[in-house]
Amino acid sequence: MSLSTEDRIAAVQPAAEAWTPQHALAWAFETFGNRVAISSAFGAEGMVLIDMASRMRRDFRLFTIDTEFLFPETYNLMDRIEEKYGISIERVYSVLSPEEQERIHGAALWSRDPDRCCNLRKVEPLRRKLRELEAWITSIRREQTIARAQAHKLEWDAKFGLVKINPIAHWTSKQVWRYIHDHRVPYNPLHDRSFPSIGCTHCTRAVGAGEDARAGRWPGFAKTECGLHAIEPAPASSEVEL
Ligand code: SF4
Repeated sequence: MSLSTEDRIAAVQPAAEAWTPQHALAWAFETFGNRVAISSAFGAEGMVLIDMASRMRRDFRLFTIDTEFLFPETYNLMDRIEEKYGISIERVYSVLSPEEQERIHGAALWSRDPDRCCNLRKVEPLRRKLRELEAWITSIRREQTIARAQAHKLEWDAKFGLVKINPIAHWTSKQVWRYIHDHRVPYNPLHDRSFPSIGCTHCTRAVGAGEDARAGRWPGFAKTECGLHAIEPAPASSEVEL
């Protein structure tokens, strides 16, 4: 009887905890070829992974969920990434334009029901994109939020039903910034203006001295995650060769 992908991942998972980020990326590329992609919103951590991947291969896949509410600095960084690394970012959008969302759900949905807004503009587009893939690579780190503290470097993503690779799950913020400076990696200039975590313009503010790095996301709400990395019950796993 052949093992499910979930069981195969569980077997490799303990060894994967000792992998360097480069080893994790190499394993992902060798195992899944063009059925794996890096997912990024182009924060400092994402820039580290993009730079590492570019040193390993020229044709890696990179996608982003473009909510159409991003900062001009973020869109500008996307253009710089495409130019510097010679890649084309796969941009994924909500099925609803901002105007259609307002017509159907009313004005400023993010200020009344940010979970619904994130579902429409982030989670559903991500779910659609991940159906193309057998694995995705993210730049989450364990120390970022409580929900991310249990992240493994290699895991079965029960929420979306595919393999998830988190090559820098164990890194500190200091390691991220050391890599960026040592390798002259481009980054979002908002990071230098007290925005440690950058999302949509409507839901992101600068943080004050002593505030948590994610205190500037969804200010006024208890929300700390957009739903992309939360853990939910599993659908049946697929069968892929590992
Ligand atoms: S971060 Fe805010 S504006 Fe962006 S999708 Fe979520 S609720 Fe909507």
